[in-house]
Amino acid sequence: MHSKGHLGLALLVCSLIALPFGFGNDYYVLIIVLFTAGLSFIPDIDFNFEIKHRGFTHNILFGIICGAGFGALFGYVSGWIWGIVGFFAGFGGVMLHLLGDVMTHMAFAPFYPFKKDKIAFRKFYSGNEKVNNGFFILGVIIFFLYIFIHSGAFANFI
Ligand SMILES: [Zn+2]
Repeated sequence: MHSKGHLGLALLVCSLIALPFGFGNDYYVLIIVLFTAGLSFIPDIDFNFEIKHRGFTHNILFGIICGAGFGALFGYVSGWIWGIVGFFAGFGGVMLHLLGDVMTHMAFAPFYPFKKDKIAFRKFYSGNEKVNNGFFILGVIIFFLYIFIHSGAFANFI
């Protein structure tokens, strides 16, 4: 799946999860949604290095490392609440990326090191433009719906 598709899928899932919670105190829920979606491209940094694609960066261990890394970074810079935001965003971004990739044809081991089985549901090819655009558009629509409902615009509208 391309980064556009990953961004859309992450926005879609995060906005749906965040919907009942609103924006949270001081907009923390909204901020987690935005950072998680923004970090959903991270596992594909393996393209930039001389390492196997969908290897080290495409599993739950890498998600935990990213969560801990961003949690520590955000926490160090802005305090412990931001540390929690950073953890959710780093871990969530990687996990949602894996969710997108596992639906494609190229198998990898998302639960490594807990389970080493390679999985691929083969629903579509990662380069499928219709699917990537579809997830992107759907994600943006649901995200704006979430913003619309909780910004008070919805209440004024009806
Ligand atoms: Zn990937």
